[in-house]
Amino acid sequence: MNRKNLFGLTLAELEAELAPLPKFRAKQIAAQIYKHGVKTFDDMNDLPKNLRAELKTRYEIKIADLLKRLDSRDGLTTKFLLGLADGAAVEVVLMRHDYGNGVCISSQVGCQMGCKFCASTLKGLERNLTAAEMLGEIFFAEEFLRGEGGKLDSVVVMGTGEPLMNFDALIKMLRLLHEDYCLGMSYRKVTISTCGVVPAIKKLRDEKIPVTLSISLHAPDDRLRSALMPINSAFGLKSLLNAGNDYAQVTGRRVTYEYILLGGVNDTEEHARRLAKILSGQLANVNLIPFNPVDERSFAPPTNAAVKKFFHFLNTHGIGATVRKEMGSDVNAACGQLRAKVLSR
Ligand code: SF4
Repeated sequence: MNRKNLFGLTLAELEAELAPLPKFRAKQIAAQIYKHGVKTFDDMNDLPKNLRAELKTRYEIKIADLLKRLDSRDGLTTKFLLGLADGAAVEVVLMRHDYGNGVCISSQVGCQMGCKFCASTLKGLERNLTAAEMLGEIFFAEEFLRGEGGKLDSVVVMGTGEPLMNFDALIKMLRLLHEDYCLGMSYRKVTISTCGVVPAIKKLRDEKIPVTLSISLHAPDDRLRSALMPINSAFGLKSLLNAGNDYAQVTGRRVTYEYILLGGVNDTEEHARRLAKILSGQLANVNLIPFNPVDERSFAPPTNAAVKKFFHFLNTHGIGATVRKEMGSDVNAACGQLRAKVLSR
């Protein structure tokens, strides 16, 4: 018999599912699943034995199966390929920074957005992830870190998929993650990355959950951005920057603009000048990401000199910029690369 998975249910959903059991039982089970990471009813010592026996005939507590694990040589990055119940696979990347441990999770299986520099979109979108599956990615990383004596400090939804195209599941996952009976993670420790789905940025603003918004910009003008990112043909730069500015004003949270530096494509001083101009006056900073070569895509990384020049230009023209430290290029850390490789075999 197929047993229903309780992982990923909110307390209210657990109460409804387990009725007519008294509500305090749902609370105990939620604490066991989310606070203590218990995976079998036999280990729920605070439940009577006969109840444990009954529960395990009807339910299970399952996150995901580990299909593959890769560790970077410097030990700072670990990448997991996780198998889901229907056989789909998603990538999760654990990053050990000197300021804390972060996990980058996927929000969809594949992606329909078609960004030209990205491996995740090559086979299109397979399906959305559920809130439980996204939470499972985070728990997998959290448990792994706990096993090595660490803890999880932050979450970025920046892996495969466009999170705002999976809006309802994303919001459900974020609210559950924030609950005291779950990980109790502050919204401020969570970053949502979007390629620029403008109406959904407005919806996210209205949810009043102060997560950090990260907008993948990658070009300082509509012509180049539309060539790199098809979403720009639907929502141009002006409306995107307005939505970003509005998000920052309403939430008080500085927006991060991600900018992948592609050698010879968008990395000249002229591009930096135009970028500084369009971001001038925004509550924003820029994260420069030197392109990580992807076998399946033909772009080249920028030269070190171009990265330095670009960075220097922004910082001396009123735009706070950082260069993302390259992490895990030896474990295919760019989104979708491991999954694409395993699937192609
Ligand atoms: S960069 Fe993000 S939004 Fe664009 S295709 Fe890749 S996964 Fe999708």
